[in-house]
Amino acid sequence: MVTTTADSIAAHTKYEPVIGLEVHVQLLTATKIFCSCSTRFGAPPNSNVCPVCLGMPGALPVLNKKVVEFATLAAMALQCRINETSIFARKNYFYPDLPKGYQISQYDKPLAEFGFIEISAGKGKKKIGITRVHLEEDAGKSLHEGFPDSDEKTAIDLNRTGVPLIEIVSEPDIATPDEAYEYLTRLKEIILYTGVSDCNMEEGSLRCDANVSVRPRGQKEFGTKAEIKNVNSFRFIREALEYDIRRQIDVLESGGKIPQETRLYNSNEGKTYSMRSKEQAHDYRYFPEPDLLPLVVDETWKSEIARTLPELPEARRARLVKDYGITEYDAQVLTFSKSLADQFEEAAKAAKNPKRVANLVQGELMGRLKAKGIEIEQSPISMKGVAASADLVEGGRISGKMLKDLYDLAFERGKDFPVVYEEEGRPQQSTDTSALEKMIDDVLAANPKQLEQYRAGKTTMLGFFVGQVMKASKGQASPQIVNELLAKKLS
Ligand code: ADP
Ligand code: ZN
Ligand code: MG
Repeated sequence: MVTTTADSIAAHTKYEPVIGLEVHVQLLTATKIFCSCSTRFGAPPNSNVCPVCLGMPGALPVLNKKVVEFATLAAMALQCRINETSIFARKNYFYPDLPKGYQISQYDKPLAEFGFIEISAGKGKKKIGITRVHLEEDAGKSLHEGFPDSDEKTAIDLNRTGVPLIEIVSEPDIATPDEAYEYLTRLKEIILYTGVSDCNMEEGSLRCDANVSVRPRGQKEFGTKAEIKNVNSFRFIREALEYDIRRQIDVLESGGKIPQETRLYNSNEGKTYSMRSKEQAHDYRYFPEPDLLPLVVDETWKSEIARTLPELPEARRARLVKDYGITEYDAQVLTFSKSLADQFEEAAKAAKNPKRVANLVQGELMGRLKAKGIEIEQSPISMKGVAASADLVEGGRISGKMLKDLYDLAFERGKDFPVVYEEEGRPQQSTDTSALEKMIDDVLAANPKQLEQYRAGKTTMLGFFVGQVMKASKGQASPQIVNELLAKKLS
């Protein structure tokens, strides 16, 4: 029972949660880890199989080189130390969708160790340790639904057996469900930047098991953990953790004990349920895989892989702030994906004023995307389009109001900015020159000394006057037109 009485709130501040996450990520290789079968998702059941991934007697695994490169790249992006030699191990258990009766994984000598992910926590930053990144093969898929004749049947699809996975195990450094959510968000972002996985949760390319315990605040030893399995969104993981933390505290407060167990989350009810006690299911009798040599990633290979490591999101954000004078927040939005960041940089480099490109993304694009319920990657206005519009405003060709109207049209028509700008016949802002002329006269009258210097041949004073007029117009005037009018007046 979850209660929210004053007593229970007091009890909850007495305890602190401890969370560690185990994340499985499917690598985007064309073929499986130990055979040449395709990894394509959605193929007809049991069509991507061969004697190796079906576990036929005598069939031998051959390690896919690309898998090692992808896994190593991911581990490097997670700041891990790559072990020169790692060992494949058999994890023995019986399950209908595991035809060999064991899974080839890594155990005491994993591919990589000692990494971390930096997350924001509260107002600051915090490093969450990564214990290990190891390679393993996926199991098949049991399908319990969709049989009209009986609901007691289970079908098995072995297309997924032997699909390459990395498992990323965190240290129990995560202190709240929000931190867990943030860790997963950063983890996914980093993996997406490396391009080794699409991290698609619906298709099972990213799966997370959450381990959680509670302990009295200040106590050093960890409490007994529950492992929550197979939760299929980051939001549900946060919810499942919130629920289970409250549940565990309530058990302890009422004098009970937390058993070590595996639990499942029911997202409709917002509750976790015991699936099995851990003791029952935990002797995997790991031993070194006799059919595979130790995996050696030597210095040469390592540095070849390191060369393909892209700039990572955190570093890129810092650089964008520095290079383009944009805010942290702008940088956050613009690095949402690697392709978006690439597009922005390409556009910003070509634009007269990169800061204006960032401002338009923030001020004009994001709101319209949100209203339409689409991601920036599906935006009708491309980053190049934003840059083109920024240049038009910068050059005084169109006003801010006109830009807004053109953006509205672009969204209405589902077309990019330059297309709509052409369709509308390259509109230009009509400028009220009489008001501007009055401002110019005022500026000249107010600065007789500078005017004298200008007349004496110091033509650089023109810039000063333009600046003053722009200021007087509160930035509304077109600098181009101000320039033209001033030149006329002064000649
Ligand atoms: P197991 O042997 O049950 O797989 P591990 O020690 O390998 O347990 O840890 C698995 C995951 O659980 C790791 O992410 C680790 O950080 C986390 N973890 C370990 N002990 C605890 C605990 N007491 N409370 C919360 N998380 C824990
Ligand atoms: Zn195969
Ligand atoms: Mg473990």
